[in-house]
Amino acid sequence: MSLRWPKIPILMYHRIGERVAASIVPDHYVSRELFERQLKMLRALRYQTIHLSEIAEVLERPCPAARRYAVISFDDGYRSFISDALPTLEKNRMTASVFLVADCIGSSNRWDEIKGDVSEPLMTVKEIQQCLKRGVEFGAHTLSHPDLRFCDTERAREEIFGSRRKLQEMLSCPIEWFSYPYGKQGLRERTLVREAGFAGACATGKSVNTRGTDPFALARINVRATTSSAYLFYKVIKASRRYA
Ligand SMILES: [Zn+2]
Repeated sequence: MSLRWPKIPILMYHRIGERVAASIVPDHYVSRELFERQLKMLRALRYQTIHLSEIAEVLERPCPAARRYAVISFDDGYRSFISDALPTLEKNRMTASVFLVADCIGSSNRWDEIKGDVSEPLMTVKEIQQCLKRGVEFGAHTLSHPDLRFCDTERAREEIFGSRRKLQEMLSCPIEWFSYPYGKQGLRERTLVREAGFAGACATGKSVNTRGTDPFALARINVRATTSSAYLFYKVIKASRRYA
């Protein structure tokens, strides 16, 4: 049996539902039907979904060439995750990691609303706890969703450290993973995230993750409203040829 080092794609989703034309981020909507087709495609390719908490261990061991792992992640913690994504994930025996904006739990996407976006509800503590019981992993996505590169160091520190502290208190569970708003980060942000005690962090990037990838700059493949399952397949295969 031939063994090889795993290459793990991480998919990045935002909202599940019909595209809302009035939204300032219409690309962030993936319809439930398309989401289901994408999961079926991953299943047909024999991808097994894992949590981020498992990624380091999986990357450290060569595995049979036929074994494929992927992480499915959702940014912002929209209510559409529990209503429209989770049932489809469970039907396909898949799991996901969701990043929460700590000051907006049970509220809405204030950071986009102030730019003129439609209001989209975010999960409440109760809903998040239901997801935890159903095996969903949660991480932090700052307190208020700023582009951290434009925050002074004191504010960036509070957004990063504060989100971990607040979510751990609110949910009584460990919060070990972080996702940079807009995927934007540099050395200062990566250092602060490490200092805050996170195990790693997700950025963006059109590559897969290997044992050589910086765990504080994991690459994620963006899945948009227009990403057909065939195009997602192409993106994943193309990413597999690039290493983060
Ligand atoms: Zn976000």
